[in-house]
Order: sequence, then structure tokens, then C-alpha cells
Amino acid sequence: MTAATTLTTACIECGADLELEGAVVGEIVQCPECGVELEVLSLSPVELGLAPAEEEDWGE
Ligand SMILES: [Zn+2]
Repeated sequence: MTAATTLTTACIECGADLELEGAVVGEIVQCPECGVELEVLSLSPVELGLAPAEEEDWGE
């Protein structure tokens, strides 16, 4: 058995397959296809939501 659980789900924006390896609730993942940032809302079942946009970069 593997320690890390790999979950697969689909991007809620473009439908691309996403693998969530060792993901935890609250983690932000980025879709490799469309680049949208998704927040892991739940793991069982996997539920994703759009992450809050962080377009404003305060300095740095
Ligand atoms: Zn996508």
C-alpha cells in the first residue's frame, strides 16, 4: 500500500484530468491545462472550488 493517496478528478473549468497527489483540504492546485487555481474543498468525494483570485501582488 502506498502512503500517499492519489486522487483523480476533473478540472471544473476545462474538464481536464487532474491528479491530486497527497492533497489536503484547503490546498490550492493549479490546472495544467487552463491554469486556473482550484481549492480542494473536500476529499471524499473530491470537491474543488475556484480559488480566490490573487491578481494583486502587493510588492515583491
Ligand atoms: Zn482546467
